[in-house]
Amino acid sequence: MQILIATNNENKVKEIRRIFDGAKIFSLKDMGINIEVEETGRTFEENALIKARAIYDIVKMPVLSDDSGLSVKALGGRPGIYSARYAGVHGDSNANNLKLLKELDGIADRRAEFVCAVAFKSEKGEFVSTGRVEGEILREECGTDGFGYDPLFYSYELKKSFGNATMEEKNLVSHRSRALKGLKEILLKNNIVFSE
Ligand code: IMP
Repeated sequence: MQILIATNNENKVKEIRRIFDGAKIFSLKDMGINIEVEETGRTFEENALIKARAIYDIVKMPVLSDDSGLSVKALGGRPGIYSARYAGVHGDSNANNLKLLKELDGIADRRAEFVCAVAFKSEKGEFVSTGRVEGEILREECGTDGFGYDPLFYSYELKKSFGNATMEEKNLVSHRSRALKGLKEILLKNNIVFSE
């Protein structure tokens, strides 16, 4: 099966290729598509579906999209779906991390989770799967690997910061790999064979 991944993030494409081995995976760039879909949903799942539907309407081929972010308990789940633009400018990780440290200053309960929803749409229907990984927000950045909030996220399972984890280690427990593995199972249960 050919699947279009609704992202230009090469790391995401790589991880999806690894989990959906056997499928032919294309990125938006591969297809020459340059589109910014407005994420107007209230949840990760809604946003992932909005993206999958918008791109499916253009390409009419199987589409896989994702939406993810960080949910901090003491902040009532924020920054949540607004994780990329928490500090105002989309994708400014330094500013986002600084704002997070400031908001959690003096707060003892630093529990947080990364959440990822992935959506798949084809002529056979729409399917959504969500993955989570739990941890805590550190008091300072730790490590330089990964991206976004990784240097501030201490994973209970890895017993280290995502900023200090290799990509292979992170993929073992990450919200994104869990969402993708869940989706793979859902598709198989629905007799959608992606390795054809
Ligand atoms: P998106 O799903 O690529 O739009 O990601 C939303 C935002 O959530 C990113 O810009 C990051 O700030 C944050 N985020 C999502 N997943 C991760 C992760 O695995 N590590 C660090 N930050 C993440």
